[in-house]
Amino acid sequence: MSIFYRRLPKLDYVKPRQMDEALRILGENQDGRIRLYAGGTDVIPKIKERLMPVPEVLVDLKGITELNYITHNDKEGLHIGALASISQVAQASVIKEKYAMLREAALSIASTQVQNRGTIAGNICNAVPSADSAPALLCLGAKVLCVGKNGERTVDLDDFFFGPGKTALAEDELLKDISIPNLDGKGAYIKLSPRSRMDLAVVGVAAFAKVEKGAFKDIRIGLGAVAPTPIRAREAEKRLMGEPASESVISEAAALAAKEAKPIDDHRASAEYRRMMVEVLVKRAVHQAIAN
Ligand SMILES: Cc1cc2nc3c(=O)[nH]c(=O)nc-3n(C[C@H](O)[C@H](O)[C@H](O)COP(=O)(O)OP(=O)(O)OC[C@H]3O[C@@H](n4cnc5c(N)ncnc54)[C@H](O)[C@@H]3O)c2cc1C
Repeated sequence: MSIFYRRLPKLDYVKPRQMDEALRILGENQDGRIRLYAGGTDVIPKIKERLMPVPEVLVDLKGITELNYITHNDKEGLHIGALASISQVAQASVIKEKYAMLREAALSIASTQVQNRGTIAGNICNAVPSADSAPALLCLGAKVLCVGKNGERTVDLDDFFFGPGKTALAEDELLKDISIPNLDGKGAYIKLSPRSRMDLAVVGVAAFAKVEKGAFKDIRIGLGAVAPTPIRAREAEKRLMGEPASESVISEAAALAAKEAKPIDDHRASAEYRRMMVEVLVKRAVHQAIAN
């Protein structure tokens, strides 16, 4: 039985105002002693419920206002700062216009309250298999900028997730920026969950496609909640690339995606159901991406 602890345990709280200060604090991190937070929508309930080891120090990133931005230009594409909230991402006109699948994914997360506080960066650093933004970001070819005491490095989102709750971030690093290139094509995100709001995905499927002269010139498929990490369905993509956008080829690709999934049985759904739903939703998402 899990016990709900109503209060936060005793811990130190710091709110740096500059990146340098945050990095200096984080540079002393060892064995999860220091824990970052942005919106806190995930980490605070987890600490209260003792679902994670209680850190000695909580570092609130919200004081570093320079991390709150969404920018776009034709050369560099889209940049989302670590403090941009899920709501800001959903409402940004450039995202509505050019990266609509990311907006759909953002709007599928929890509720308005959670969207107002929570960040997209927190959603991926959390690294749960069901993170709603992840399949869309994978399809969009997102990269993340990790910054630590030894400098900066850029990591493809594809290489960022190591397993449930585990990422490529070192203990002394924070995620500063998410970048997405300019892309030619359209996408869709479909989330399956038993409740219409405030529920995690049982299956999440993103598809991004560009069809030219009736054939797939680009196709990317992202899956959530059906493997230890969010993944791309590479075999399904290979089946579609260069092929006519016909019902039969899309159906074959959807069946391949279901094979690529490695779902588990849990209290939300059986592995078998999840696998079946991958096939159904990949078909639907690819059709939607083409139609958009
Ligand atoms: C009621 C409820 C419903 C929810 N529903 C959904 C849902 O439908 N879909 C979904 O995907 N999620 C859902 N969540 C989970 C959560 O709200 C999201 O994952 C949210 O995006 C987390 O963002 P945050 O800024 O609040 O993260 P935080 O809680 O602040 O942090 C989450 C994790 O990321 C780390 N972190 C945060 N920012 C950084 C950074 N810049 N660099 C390095 N590490 C960082 C923290 O240390 C922590 O481990 C739900 C949560 C609640 C409480």
